[in-house]
Amino acid sequence: MIDSCSPAANALLSLEQALERIRSAINSVPGSEKVTLKNALGRILAQSVYAPVNLPPDRNAAMDGYAFSSADINREHPFTLGLAGTSWAGKPFQGQLQAGQCVRIFTGAVVPEQADSVIMQEQVQADEHIIRFPANTPAGQNIRAAGEDVNRGDLLCAHPKKLTAGDIGLLASAGIHDIAVKRHLKIAFFSTGDELTPLGQALEPGKIYDSNRYSLSGLLADPNYDTVDLGVIPDNKQVLENQLVTASKTYDVIITTGGASVGEADYVKDILDSCGQVNFWKVAIKPGKPLAFGKIGSCWFFGLPGNPVAVITTFQQIVAPALRQLCGAPACKPLRLIATCTTALKKAPGRQEFLCGILTQTGSGEFYVASSGKQGSHMLSSISRANCYIVLAPECTSIRTGGTVTVEPFTLFI
Ligand code: AMP
Ligand code: MG
Repeated sequence: MIDSCSPAANALLSLEQALERIRSAINSVPGSEKVTLKNALGRILAQSVYAPVNLPPDRNAAMDGYAFSSADINREHPFTLGLAGTSWAGKPFQGQLQAGQCVRIFTGAVVPEQADSVIMQEQVQADEHIIRFPANTPAGQNIRAAGEDVNRGDLLCAHPKKLTAGDIGLLASAGIHDIAVKRHLKIAFFSTGDELTPLGQALEPGKIYDSNRYSLSGLLADPNYDTVDLGVIPDNKQVLENQLVTASKTYDVIITTGGASVGEADYVKDILDSCGQVNFWKVAIKPGKPLAFGKIGSCWFFGLPGNPVAVITTFQQIVAPALRQLCGAPACKPLRLIATCTTALKKAPGRQEFLCGILTQTGSGEFYVASSGKQGSHMLSSISRANCYIVLAPECTSIRTGGTVTVEPFTLFI
């Protein structure tokens, strides 16, 4: 950790530098738990899982039709076979298939050992006990081999995968009932500010509703996080310090909003300085310059700005990757695209900027993006209307209408 009085802690970092500082400072929290498969969606695998069975377990039919042995049949000409019985999905044919016989079979049903082919029912003429096959009936078709998808002992899902619906289906198909996943990350968050009024109360003059805790609880909705909302803390240094120190003993991570800047009532950085360690507290992004990252005891701390759009942007750009790393998820990045910008944009040089945008795609696949309208770190309507960020490099000063820009959709990761 960096000495909080050092130039390193006080430097204005680029977003990439800030992310690198976080990456090298933190490790995933230890510990895992067993969960049933039904509760495993989105959790991080704590151990790789191997197939206890072949998938599919048996050789089975890919079609509804008739199973037969192509040996000793001249398939160039039409031929007939006697019907020996039926193989249903879940109820295999019990007898022995003799020469000159076939079996009625349904998709997923076990193919009798003696058969090597299944013909689609539409291609035969079925009388009661005699099945007429056409000339040039192919051999060896419409059969799924046992273990064709996965062999017993193969790797099914590798640790530390974040489990998708497809993974859950795969594990269920192998009969895996419960699995070890990384334990929940314990996260507490609270707002700071004397002006904040909880929802449900009338606003007094000069007060505003506390929206940040609502945005944060949405941003923290993740099956790997166990989050606790600690409410609103007034702009009182002692109360804030007590809350931070107490919470740091229980949680893996504390996230606060407000009070992280340099105003008279901004105590977050000072408290982190005296009770913990500041790694950095200024990042060259807009919105969101004041942002403290550090540690109190063994608890990681993110002091986000107060402005509501800055809270969302800094959470997504800085806190979210850190939380993913802490809960052991594989590293991933937001998907970025190049789009034609239909709004002229201006910006001051110096900070990387995240503007709220509306991304569209034409029928032929080209991407267009427009500003979502009035922008400001206090204007939540701009982010509510948007579906992406327009990401402008620190040195960029303007974008003309029709110029290309980098766009980051809100919810896509690779
Ligand atoms: P601060 O960083 O505490 O100076 O706050 C910056 C701005 O964000 C001020 O206009 C605050 O009123 C506003 N703000 C701070 N916290 C919240 C919150 N929880 N919900 C909505 N606005 C907030
Ligand atoms: Mg404040």
